Amino acid sequence: MNTILISVAVLGGMGILFGLILSFAAIKLKVGEDPRLTALKELMPGANCGACGFPGCNGFAEAFFAGNAPADGCPVGRRRGLGEKLTAVMAG
Ligand code: SF4
Repeated sequence: MNTILISVAVLGGMGILFGLILSFAAIKLKVGEDPRLTALKELMPGANCGACGFPGCNGFAEAFFAGNAPADGCPVGRRRGLGEKLTAVMAG
């Protein structure tokens, strides 16, 4: 019976210890998103229609940020001058 209790205590302690280590690592090693990408995502229309060929507005913003989509690639935002706004964000 003692063997079982000791095993449960050791495994429980290890679980708590590794949980704390992972929590600490998640906080210390967190990689924040580039503020320009956040700004791009906030400018998107939010229709998530997929007409740009990407999986939603965030997908388009990420592709544009990576240089894999043209600034005027969103037909929904084209008339509102979205392309110019996106380009201005990338220019700083
Ligand atoms: S076309 Fe425009 S509105 Fe539609 S998902 Fe793409 S970025 Fe969003």
